[in-house]
Amino acid sequence: MNIHFWGVRGSIASPGSSTTKYGGNTMCISISLDNENTLVLDAGTGLYRLGQQARNDSHTYYFLLSHVHWDHINGFPMFRPHMNSDVSIQILSEMNPEWTELFLSQLDGVHFPITHEEMCASVQANLDVKGTLGRFGLDVSWIKLNHRGPCFGYRIATDSADLIYITDHEIDALQNVNTSFEELASFCSGADILIHDAQYTDDEMPSRVGWGHSSISRVCDLAAEAGVGRLLLCHHDPLRSDDALDRIALDAKSYLEASGAECRCDVAFEGMELPL
Ligand SMILES: [Zn+2]
Ligand SMILES: [Zn+2]
Repeated sequence: MNIHFWGVRGSIASPGSSTTKYGGNTMCISISLDNENTLVLDAGTGLYRLGQQARNDSHTYYFLLSHVHWDHINGFPMFRPHMNSDVSIQILSEMNPEWTELFLSQLDGVHFPITHEEMCASVQANLDVKGTLGRFGLDVSWIKLNHRGPCFGYRIATDSADLIYITDHEIDALQNVNTSFEELASFCSGADILIHDAQYTDDEMPSRVGWGHSSISRVCDLAAEAGVGRLLLCHHDPLRSDDALDRIALDAKSYLEASGAECRCDVAFEGMELPL
């Protein structure tokens, strides 16, 4: 299995000369399950590129959403495979069944030229996440996050590694509180890879309380507390330049080293690939 990052930006796509290194597309990550099945974590604008690279043959895409804020779903109308009758699209919405309609209604014939009823692919709401992904050897569990939503984080375990995907979460939230630091550290405990929202610096955080995102230092604290092997920072602020993210990468590594954590840390970028 292979993890591919198609979009790592938060809030709104941010193309331009200052974001060419890390990319400007919003959140979308794929995990190749086999030649005919792909798990897609969020469907931000990065999904467009995934669709462009898809072959015109039979394939099933399983969409596992953190939540349905625009930056996590609005790549779907332009996802080319939905015009292929050999494609199956399964929306894994057990966590919140209302997501299926909210996701599909982006194609309403008004905000997009066709309706979702006119898509050629077959579309299903799938309310059995564990059973469905269990067929591919994945053991999936989830936790409700601190973000207006609802919004969920996932732990995806294979025979060889455990991946955690947490985006749009405010670690020290004062509102929309669903998960404490300790509960989340327990959920992430011993994972090989932690992908986590790290939208703000410590300087920015005091003026962003209640916005539903975390500071980079607190994400490092979480990774250290949970004893994860590798931390990947994502959901970058749309105004964050490549140069600023380069500095953040160095600062986060120094912070983790100073804390004594044996955790590798990188800033996720568009096009990044990892084995799972
Ligand atoms: Zn977001
Ligand atoms: Zn959000």
